[in-house]
Amino acid sequence: MVADLIEEAVVQLLRDAVTALPPDVVDALRRAEARETSEVARSQLRIILDNIDAAGRLAVPICQDTGVHVFYVTGPVDASVEESIRSGVARATEEIPLRPNAVHPLTRENPGTNVAVGLPHIIYYPTDEDFLEITVLPKGAGSENMTALAMLAPADGIDGVKRFVLDTVVKAGGRPCPPTIVGVGIGGTSDLAVSMAKEALLRPLDLPNADPGLAALEEQLAEALNLTGIGPMGLGGDTTVLGVRISTAYCHTASLPVAVNLQCWAARRATARIYPDGRVRFGRSPFDP
Ligand code: SF4
Repeated sequence: MVADLIEEAVVQLLRDAVTALPPDVVDALRRAEARETSEVARSQLRIILDNIDAAGRLAVPICQDTGVHVFYVTGPVDASVEESIRSGVARATEEIPLRPNAVHPLTRENPGTNVAVGLPHIIYYPTDEDFLEITVLPKGAGSENMTALAMLAPADGIDGVKRFVLDTVVKAGGRPCPPTIVGVGIGGTSDLAVSMAKEALLRPLDLPNADPGLAALEEQLAEALNLTGIGPMGLGGDTTVLGVRISTAYCHTASLPVAVNLQCWAARRATARIYPDGRVRFGRSPFDP
């Protein structure tokens, strides 16, 4: 793959992601506004939708917190891919611009580029396809800071999982800028559960879970979470979440890991598929590049 092509695609991906929300998210916000019974909640959703419109018209970021950047890469991966993604992030930080959020965890030193040790975070799924697919998920701190992991006992079962998801969202209150999308990772090891919870956020809101049992659980959890009354921006109302996304993996017979990763209403994501002949197709998730 040509390094310049990948770098260019990464800049475009970040521009698309931070200046315009995916259509499924905008539709879900509009539907929420239409069915809200609380006047305050309706006005919050209207402000959010006006903000999204203005960002699109002016081609500026939807939120001042343009996040830190998680990339999912599938296809023929070599060392140059990482280099191109990192240079694309540095260029995007200057050109769009993005807020330079990446700092050293202890000294708080800021390189000013969003590129440093560990960031952007890149997760690879090598395949023998001839195209490279890159998805970016910018994560703002307000929602990322509410991430939670529980190592439940197997006997806690599905009721324990539901309780943990509900407790996490209630404890987060207005801090993750609701209405949120709730990513849930169930099973695996502790690190895999956390990773699955975040990656589950890539599935568009209009695409049901392929597993009917999990699809039903997502619906049930979303309904329960919307009864908490937290509401848009935590000011009360019927819309605390826009949806719940669950991913699962097998786990140790003595374990039941569960992780929750919240995504704020600024649920940004974008995908590019880069072909060897230089064509690039852009979409808003790995499900529609
Ligand atoms: S949580 Fe999301 S909407 Fe809230 S400030 Fe951060 S990026 Fe913006």
